[in-house]
Amino acid sequence: MWWQMGKFFFRHEERNGETVTVTGNTAHHLLNVLRLRVGHEIILCDGQSVDFRAKLLSIVEKPVSMVFTLLSQAPSNSEPAVQITLYQGLPKSDKMDWIIEKCIEAGVHNIVPVCTARSVSKVKDSAKKSERNSRIAESAASQSMRGIIPEISSPKNFAEALPACKHSLCLVAFENENKRTIKSALMDLQPGPISLWIGPEGGFEESEIHALEACGAIPVSLGPRILRSETAGLFAISQILCLWEK
Ligand code: SAH
Repeated sequence: MWWQMGKFFFRHEERNGETVTVTGNTAHHLLNVLRLRVGHEIILCDGQSVDFRAKLLSIVEKPVSMVFTLLSQAPSNSEPAVQITLYQGLPKSDKMDWIIEKCIEAGVHNIVPVCTARSVSKVKDSAKKSERNSRIAESAASQSMRGIIPEISSPKNFAEALPACKHSLCLVAFENENKRTIKSALMDLQPGPISLWIGPEGGFEESEIHALEACGAIPVSLGPRILRSETAGLFAISQILCLWEK
């Protein structure tokens, strides 16, 4: 049935009045993997939290493009009430792929990879990497029925990313913090945007924690067990949303 096929995003320039022309990877997937045919219906999302029931009108092959007519629209109901930005200490190898995928499923609003003192990987702002990150983000957002495609920014150095802490409530997961939990930090606050900092495999240096605190960040514990860097963000996001989801 149409709603079991997931949700697919279109770009603003692909819409013309009540029709949307889908091209590229999405069209290829719809045609060759899901075997969508003329007359079938799917959900298309504009990436700004509006979902459309859309009916396939025509298919052109080589290169594939599909024209849909938009039937009805409704607000996406899957966006969390609070926007969480994950500042993720750059992990080794391809762990970032997993972090992007899982944190998007969990409800992160956007992700900023940060090169910290103990990051083994260094900042490489290649176009290829950012294209790959966008593809992973779009596919995770589509699969998990999000209303937006979370942005994965280009990697920043610690000092470059730091000032952003001042603009919203900022939590830094720190394994040496043994009193304050996410629950106790958020208990008396009104829900609002949050920046969440997670260290790389080797953790943050004390000096980085001090710099974050000087910008207003609150160190929080994720409990008595030490989580891997790639687990910590997902774990913290689910705790925040458990407390603050509508
Ligand atoms: N210091 C350790 C662990 C780093 S774990 C080491 O040297 O190996 C990687 C990151 O996950 C940490 O920087 C922290 O942000 C987060 N983290 C993992 N377990 C945590 C816990 N129990 N409490 C708070 N943060 C934690």
